[in-house]
Amino acid sequence: MSKSLIKPFLNPPLDLSYATLPEPFYRWVKPQEHLLQAPLYFNRELALACGFTGDPKDPSVQAFLSGQDPDLTPLAMAYAGHQYAHFTLLGDGRAVLLGELTTPAGDTVDLHLKGSGSTPYARGGDGQATLEAMLKEVIIGEALHGLGIPTSRILAVNGTGKDVKRDSVHPGASALRVASSHLRVGTFELAQAHPQNDLLASLYTYTHQRHDATAPDALTWLKRVIVRQAHTVALWQLYGFVHGVMNTDNAFISGETCDFGPCAFLDTYRPHQTFSSIDLKGRYAYDQQPYIASWNMARLALCVLPLIHEDKSVATAQAQEALGLFGSSFEHHYYGGLARKLGFKEADKEDRTHYETWLKLLAQHERDFTLSFLDLTYERFDDAFYQKEDVALWLAWRQERLEALQETPEIIQARMRAHNPALIARNLEVKRRIDQAVAGDFQPFLEYLALLQKPFEHTPQQQAFAAPPPDNPRRFVTTCGT
Ligand code: AMP
Ligand code: MG
Repeated sequence: MSKSLIKPFLNPPLDLSYATLPEPFYRWVKPQEHLLQAPLYFNRELALACGFTGDPKDPSVQAFLSGQDPDLTPLAMAYAGHQYAHFTLLGDGRAVLLGELTTPAGDTVDLHLKGSGSTPYARGGDGQATLEAMLKEVIIGEALHGLGIPTSRILAVNGTGKDVKRDSVHPGASALRVASSHLRVGTFELAQAHPQNDLLASLYTYTHQRHDATAPDALTWLKRVIVRQAHTVALWQLYGFVHGVMNTDNAFISGETCDFGPCAFLDTYRPHQTFSSIDLKGRYAYDQQPYIASWNMARLALCVLPLIHEDKSVATAQAQEALGLFGSSFEHHYYGGLARKLGFKEADKEDRTHYETWLKLLAQHERDFTLSFLDLTYERFDDAFYQKEDVALWLAWRQERLEALQETPEIIQARMRAHNPALIARNLEVKRRIDQAVAGDFQPFLEYLALLQKPFEHTPQQQAFAAPPPDNPRRFVTTCGT
């Protein structure tokens, strides 16, 4: 039976449909009591979109947002996952699902609290999250959302009053995450790990109902998941986002991006760039992301073979055909997006090598990815880079192709402004503003956040943040220890 929680600020009430799944998929958990509930961040725009009408200054609302409301019946979700290709049984070690909201638009979203204390899946972890890491979840979620990339987002961050030991001692916080679900490729891998077939059937029925109720069968459903994933990763590539930890437990069935531990945005265009301190072999490097996402989809396909067809060879052939959609869908979105970033109305298959030449030139001359597209947008060609013979040749090719479109320069520039952000979340800038917030001054964090939420506006203030900070390191290093 699905539980629901009635509160004056929740209309309709908070549901908990996930608990209708069989028990291997979750454990009931009592969130730890926080020493304090310090409201540090509240996302009003997201609250509005979720139909959440609570005033975060109201103590009962505050208790709800930080998982401290005694009426809540939270659960920790179980899942498995391939972490750096190694299979592991996992689960929410430091997070709980509070429940699901139906938004005014009629969508269902999870409210999931991270940093809520250790759970039966903590594997020795402390169950805590640092304020620093939760603020990174805020800023990256908002930046991706601003760029139009499907993503989880943070509704509220609350200080817990606890000290969290990592490399040093950090203030602890919880973050209430909104996502259209927390069903993962890893959730299906958990079902596969338990040999009872009804686990898979019940998970599929629930997931299908939640995300793709109109899909007539499991094969169509799988294809939809694959196409969504390909779209999201194509967008990552177009804006230089490096996720950094694309384990199957971090691959959402919804296609939304999640878990912003070691992620970072490309500055200099180096295709094999990694940022994570532990990604020594570059498994999750920028240029590997499409392959890894398709590898993750292959793991999902393997899990659901019994749902596709009772004859294994038929199921395998059909799943393989579905997996083939990843490449075609990725290419469609990637090259279409790249063409628009370069000023063209649509991608021309014959021109793909020319689009790639531009990227090769950026790599060869170690140019900043985002800035270089802005140079094209605003025709800023003073730099010596643009006088180089190979670059000048490419610019001449582009000019000729653009002229053939017979569009006004204004139309072309408007298109480029809509596909090239005025700014991205610059790694060092993000770190500095988070550090200031952790030290007590949230203003610089909130100001930067506001600029990142609407990156296609191209205001003068945003343009001032287009370039990396002058002291940007050659390789910014991120860690998973969050
Ligand atoms: P992530 O790399 O953030 O996706 O985390 C991988 C797994 O480790 C998830 O199941 C987390 O819940 C768990 N985990 C990460 N940090 C902690 C922690 N401090 N305490 C307990 N579990 C954790
Ligand atoms: Mg994770």
